[in-house]
Amino acid sequence: MGREHIVIIGAGPTGLGAAWRLQERGYDNWLLIEQAECAGGLAASVRDEKGFTWDLGGHVQFSHYEYFDNLMDELLGPDGWLYHERESWVWLRQRFVPYPFQLNIRRLPREDLKECLRGLVRLYKEGNSHKPANFAEWIDATFGEGIARVFMRPYNFKVWAYPLEMLGTTWVGERVAVVDLERVLCNLVDERDDVSWGPNNTFRFPKFGGTGAVWRACASRLPADKQRYGVAVASVDPAKRALILSDGTHVRYDYLLSTMPVNELTRLARLSELAEITQKLCYSSTHVFGVGLRGNPPDHLRTKCWMYFPEDDNPFYRVTVFSNYSPHNVPDIRCYWSLMAEVSESPFKQVPETIDARIEEVIQGMLATRLISSRDDIVDIWYRRLEYGYPTPTSERDSIIYEVLPRLEDLGIFSRGRFGAWRYEVSNQDHSLMQGVEWVDRLLDGTEELTLWHPEIVNRTHRPAQKSA
Ligand SMILES: Cc1cc2nc3c(=O)[nH]c(=O)nc-3n(C[C@H](O)[C@H](O)[C@H](O)COP(=O)(O)OP(=O)(O)OC[C@H]3O[C@@H](n4cnc5c(N)ncnc54)[C@H](O)[C@@H]3O)c2cc1C
Repeated sequence: MGREHIVIIGAGPTGLGAAWRLQERGYDNWLLIEQAECAGGLAASVRDEKGFTWDLGGHVQFSHYEYFDNLMDELLGPDGWLYHERESWVWLRQRFVPYPFQLNIRRLPREDLKECLRGLVRLYKEGNSHKPANFAEWIDATFGEGIARVFMRPYNFKVWAYPLEMLGTTWVGERVAVVDLERVLCNLVDERDDVSWGPNNTFRFPKFGGTGAVWRACASRLPADKQRYGVAVASVDPAKRALILSDGTHVRYDYLLSTMPVNELTRLARLSELAEITQKLCYSSTHVFGVGLRGNPPDHLRTKCWMYFPEDDNPFYRVTVFSNYSPHNVPDIRCYWSLMAEVSESPFKQVPETIDARIEEVIQGMLATRLISSRDDIVDIWYRRLEYGYPTPTSERDSIIYEVLPRLEDLGIFSRGRFGAWRYEVSNQDHSLMQGVEWVDRLLDGTEELTLWHPEIVNRTHRPAQKSA
């Protein structure tokens, strides 16, 4: 590389990861453009008028990379973090079942338990010779019909908001724990909860400012004159290698790293053939509801992190006890606590038309699931809709990405990140940051971008969160 000008679209973890790595490698001919007023993208946080802090959906730091861990320590300092056990639960049949659900079915009512066991035993007796054609079939083949009906199918529809037959199977990898029948039976006989938390299942969370504190700190450590906020990329001219920004400015690039959704990028760049292909990529929108409450969490929520909700007496797929992540997420932990709910939306799964109706549905759901006992305790409601929430791993997704990304590269455009590359399995903060870092290393040294092209390798390593010495 000589002194080519690198332009980065987006100050989320991917774009900031690239900018950080460029600085670290002593390459200073770059510019970052972000349409929002501050850094963080989907990993940003907000402090609302009543003094409650919210993430854009419950974020916790999972890490697969030493580089990511070291950077997190550097950005907030070893004392800038709180460490927690990942205590997650499933609420159904009016009770909590520890996660992973499939290992704890002993907690179910008798009839459900028998159905789940029957499904598992049938799987073991009959074996499974045929390769599942889609995620729905994969669920049945992995968990048996009982667990599929009671939990896996309804829950996954609530999260993904697409018929599960439309989802592929290549993304599943580490994301779902498959069932060990012997272990399930032993748990049943020993009346043992087989929980996913414990010394190796910890996560960390910023003491102050929510998850977004990380990315604000990252941006503040990079040169201010190389970052432009509050201005959007309005069009891309691949032939001239130039961008037009929303304020009318023209910016030339030699290499463009785009972390905006790749379908939007191909539209802005008037690449009609690629735009047509990427329109087939599916995504769901996410509605985030922050509920600030008076008092303290009830006993049954005092140590919980997040909970999954497969049933339809409530609209959310997940609720986080956000004040358990940091006492500073609420104005005064002695008097307040907070819950954050996420609801998905797609052409296959609608939400009520008005914001008021959506909020009312969430409150009713929280009452029905005993997360709150009275609406009189609510002192604050914060709401945000994310148009792009989850990149849906449909069966067609891989072939689209494998075709479109290399064709964009021929034009000097590199599309990376959660919606830039559309790979859900490598779209958490650590993966996203490393997509940016690895892209820079590839440009400077010609090394392979492992995260983007080999999720199965990077996801093999789990790094428990622990305070550095
Ligand atoms: C509900 C939810 C829960 C999540 N939970 C977790 C979790 O628990 N743990 C975890 O690690 N990760 C979690 N994530 C994922 C995490 O938020 C992403 O990993 C991360 O934000 C993706 O980073 P990115 O930079 O690729 O994309 P983004 O964060 O989407 O950043 C892209 C940026 O590009 C900007 N942009 C778009 N178009 C333009 C334009 N035309 N001009 C200029 N700028 C533009 C956007 O404003 C945005 O800031 C969650 C995400 C969601 C939605």
